[in-house]
Amino acid sequence: MKDLNYWKNNAEEDYITTPISVLRYITELENKVEEAINYTRSCTEVCDCEFERIDSRRIQCVKCEMIQIRD
Ligand SMILES: [Zn+2]
Repeated sequence: MKDLNYWKNNAEEDYITTPISVLRYITELENKVEEAINYTRSCTEVCDCEFERIDSRRIQCVKCEMIQIRD
């Protein structure tokens, strides 16, 4: 499968002919992706859960969608 690293390596030999502004833009995008991944992680790890009952035995957090069994 062609993942992100494949395309990155594929593009690397063309970096030399790429304008600095475009490389800079890609770097900023990479930073944003990293931030988004970290945000998603911290969100699921430290969730101030708000549960809603989804059926007679289970409740689900409306924010992180975690399901718990609650009789
Ligand atoms: Zn939650």
